[in-house]
Amino acid sequence: MVRGTFILGPCAAESREQVLVTARQIKDVCGNIPFVFRAGVWKPRTSPHTFQGIGEAALGWLSEVRASLGVPVATEVATPEHVDSALKAGIDYLWIGARTSANPLAVSALAEAIQVRCADKSQTECALKGIFIKNPVNEDAGLWLGNIERLEKTGIPVLAVHRGCNHRPCWRMAHKVRTERPDIQMLLDPSHMSGNASKVPALMQKIPELGLEGAMVEVHYQPECALSDKNQQLTPIQLGNSLDPIMSRLCFESPTCPTKDEKELNWLRAEIDELDEQLWATIAARMDVSKRIGAWKKANHVAPLQPERYEKIVESLRSRAGQLGLSEEFMLNVWELIHEESLRQQS
Ligand code: PEP
Ligand code: MN
Repeated sequence: MVRGTFILGPCAAESREQVLVTARQIKDVCGNIPFVFRAGVWKPRTSPHTFQGIGEAALGWLSEVRASLGVPVATEVATPEHVDSALKAGIDYLWIGARTSANPLAVSALAEAIQVRCADKSQTECALKGIFIKNPVNEDAGLWLGNIERLEKTGIPVLAVHRGCNHRPCWRMAHKVRTERPDIQMLLDPSHMSGNASKVPALMQKIPELGLEGAMVEVHYQPECALSDKNQQLTPIQLGNSLDPIMSRLCFESPTCPTKDEKELNWLRAEIDELDEQLWATIAARMDVSKRIGAWKKANHVAPLQPERYEKIVESLRSRAGQLGLSEEFMLNVWELIHEESLRQQS
C-alpha cells in the first residue's frame, strides 16, 4: 500500500469556481491516492499592492470541497485570529508559512491559540488533524526545530515542510532537522523551493531518494491566470505526470527502497550539489566584478596585473588556509586558476 502525505492545491483560494474545479480535477488525477486539499486564504505577500487573499469568506469554499469530495482541507494561519476562524470552519490541517516561521513569538502565539481551542477535544471547534510547519525563509535549522517543539505542545501531530530558501533547496538545513528529529515526517515543497513549475518534476524525485514522506505542491486549474505564484503552479495534468514516476518509488518498507545508509549518502550528495551550485554561482559573480574592474583599468590606463595586489592576496590566502583546514598548496592552485580566468576575461 502506498503511504505518504500529499498536500495539493492552489497557492490561494481565488474564487469558488477556481477552488471547486481545481479540487475536482486533482481528485480525478489522484484516483486512489489520498491527499489533503490546500488553498491559502490569507496570503503573506511581499508587496501590499498584490492580491492579499480573499480572507475568511474563502473558508466556506474549503468546507464545500470537504463536503462534496470527502477530501480533508488545509489553509495557512499567521495570527491567532486566523486559527479561530479556520477551526470554526472545521479546517482539518493548518500550515504555518515561511515568513511566520521566521518569528518565534508568532509561532508561540499560534501554538497557544491552537492549544486553547483544542485542549478539550470534545469542542466541536477543533477537528484539527495536523500542523505543517515550513522552514523559516532564512537558513536556520535551529529555529525550524524550535518551532516544531513549540507546536508539539499543542498535542496535535506536527509535520515539517522543506520549502527551501530564496527559490533554492536548502538540503543542509533539512538534513540537520531530519537527523535531529527522525521521528518527524518531512515533506517537500518543490513549488516554493524552485518558483518554477518546470523544475517541480525533477525535485519530486528527491522524495524517494531521500526517504521523505510526501510533498506539498501548488496546483491550479489555470496557472497562467493565478493571482499569486503563477509561475510555479502545476496544472492537475502536470501534477499527475510528476506524481506517476514517484508513487511506485515511495519507499517506506519495500525491499527495493534505498536502505538507511543509501539514503544518508543521498542526503550528503544533495548537500554537496547545493554547495557546488553556490560555488559556481559565486565564481560567476566574481568574474562579473572582475570584468567591471577590467573596464575600469582600461579607462584609467592601468595594467591588468598589479603585482602588489597579487602578493597581498597570496599572503592572505596563506593565513586563511590554516583557519579553514585546507592546504596552502591547494588554495593557491585553485586561486591561481580563478585569477588566470579573471585576467583572461579582463583582456
Ligand atoms: C504557500 O504555501 O502558499 C506559502 C505562502 O508558502 P511559503 O510560506 O513557503 O512561502
Ligand atoms: Mn504560494
